[in-house]
Amino acid sequence: MKELNLKSLLTQKWLEKNASDKSHVRGIRIFEDDWAVRIFESIPARLRAEVMGMRFYVVTFQIKRGKLEAVCTCPAFRDFDGLCKHIVGAGLHAIEVEFKKEPRTIAGAIQKHVAGLKEAELRELAFHALLNDEDFRNEFSDDDGELLAEEDRRQRWKE
Ligand SMILES: [Zn+2]
Repeated sequence: MKELNLKSLLTQKWLEKNASDKSHVRGIRIFEDDWAVRIFESIPARLRAEVMGMRFYVVTFQIKRGKLEAVCTCPAFRDFDGLCKHIVGAGLHAIEVEFKKEPRTIAGAIQKHVAGLKEAELRELAFHALLNDEDFRNEFSDDDGELLAEEDRRQRWKE
């Protein structure tokens, strides 16, 4: 009996078969970006990778009841059938690097960068993140939360 491991199940064919044409084409674009995917966990039955696009997502491949399953933390994966572009990109990347865990991750690099910032730089960074990112602003639970939402509405009237 053929051994069930990720290497034998996660193939280019599997990705192509389980993704829409659109997701597949976009996934190839993610794969072609050298900085977009990093594998941070790899054991025979499970592989996890971070995918950095407009946002940061985590893709998990695992074997469940003899079948390969893939999930992504993005909204497209939740809302639509089939594999999203992040899963396709992460899968192609995993095949290329032979399913090896990578020592340097994107989240790790960002963490290191943030750790080296001065307080004023951190404040500036948080200010711009809140100013420019609606999701981040909505998640920002603080006494100012309502005010931030109010400012957001006002901003929209101006547009
Ligand atoms: Zn996704």
